[in-house]
Amino acid sequence: MKKLLTISLGLFSALMFSQETYLHCGQIIDVESGKVLSEKTIVVSGKKIKSISNGYQTGSEGDVIVDLKDKTVLPGLIDMHVHIEGQSSPKRYIQRFTLNEADVAFESTIYAKKTLLAGFTTVRDLGGSGVNIALRKAIDRGTIMGPRIFTAGKAIGTTGGHADPTNGMKKSLMGDPGPREGVVNSPEDAKKAVRQRYKDGADVIKITATGGVLSVAKSGQNPQFTLEEVKAIVQTAKDYNMLTAAHAHGDEGMQRAILGGIKTIEHGTLMSEETMELMVKHNTYLVPTITAGKQATESAKIPGYFPEVVAKKALEIGPKSQRTFGKAYKKGVPIAFGTDAGVFPHGENAREFGYMVEAGMPIMEALKSATITNASLLGVGDELGQLKDGFLADIIAVDQNPKDDVRTLENVVFVMKDGKIVKSI
Ligand SMILES: [Zn+2]
Repeated sequence: MKKLLTISLGLFSALMFSQETYLHCGQIIDVESGKVLSEKTIVVSGKKIKSISNGYQTGSEGDVIVDLKDKTVLPGLIDMHVHIEGQSSPKRYIQRFTLNEADVAFESTIYAKKTLLAGFTTVRDLGGSGVNIALRKAIDRGTIMGPRIFTAGKAIGTTGGHADPTNGMKKSLMGDPGPREGVVNSPEDAKKAVRQRYKDGADVIKITATGGVLSVAKSGQNPQFTLEEVKAIVQTAKDYNMLTAAHAHGDEGMQRAILGGIKTIEHGTLMSEETMELMVKHNTYLVPTITAGKQATESAKIPGYFPEVVAKKALEIGPKSQRTFGKAYKKGVPIAFGTDAGVFPHGENAREFGYMVEAGMPIMEALKSATITNASLLGVGDELGQLKDGFLADIIAVDQNPKDDVRTLENVVFVMKDGKIVKSI
């Protein structure tokens, strides 16, 4: 009896006084106000932030103290545009014929880990084969290490469009992919493709509203959806509470996407001033992906890296993304941080901050777009994107104040996700 009582008392105290983590933070960036706060303690209990208080507090025996007194601490970063399944290489085009899903899955675990350790605790995956859905589940279960993923599954395109999976193949392999494979040619097809993605387990919807750079097809910018098809996508996605994104380089396709109700425009490379005004009016967000533009341009200069038809487009479109972003930002277009990681090596996502600042966006604004803005677009603004009592404990630290050196964000030294330390000093 006595023994039983001791055991239950032990269990009781473990429940009542479970271990907490005390982060002693030299500086904290309040992304909402853009202010830098000094000498604070963040107490983490379970998955959440329990409190943030002045000075360096210590808990009771058994609590963990993490010394970040000479670091700058900020919320886990959120990238709205990655392709976590793969990574650009000269082999990529042949790999469509050689890799099985399991091969892709094993590779993707490496990219997921790199992304998380780089301080990106949440990402929106905008298109792959569907392995990205299994990857999200494996991360949620704790089977593998990676960021929290909101995934589009397989992107939706039109026949011969940027997301047609059989582009560039010989006729006997092309077949005639349909809504199930993410290829639509009418509003009815469009509805079915969205519902299929919901059934597959996707969280968000991605369409390719115009031609793209990396597909084996001639145009990198022509419109590829009718306005009616876009509207059918958006209305159906709303039924399932799914956020919509449209890849778009060319202006006409971009306008159709905005008018059709798409929430985020990816790349936006050849955006006219008229379209910028349209985005402001409709509160449509630009996801700039400048890093991908820069990297695609560099890769295209290496002979044989891309097929010829792709290299030509990369050299024409790639260099324009940063300038367009700068103009759009100055015009007041809402910005959601996103990089297109996968076009460049996963884990280098924070390069985007430097390019954004170079183009005229203050670092505090850029950080806000990568935290508060993105969390709220993903529908999790009340638990992610800020360091606040009751929010999920996604916390990172860097050596410098990013205001003094933006590139410090490319070297994140401490990462906590859901209250668990995954990278420490
Ligand atoms: Zn992309």
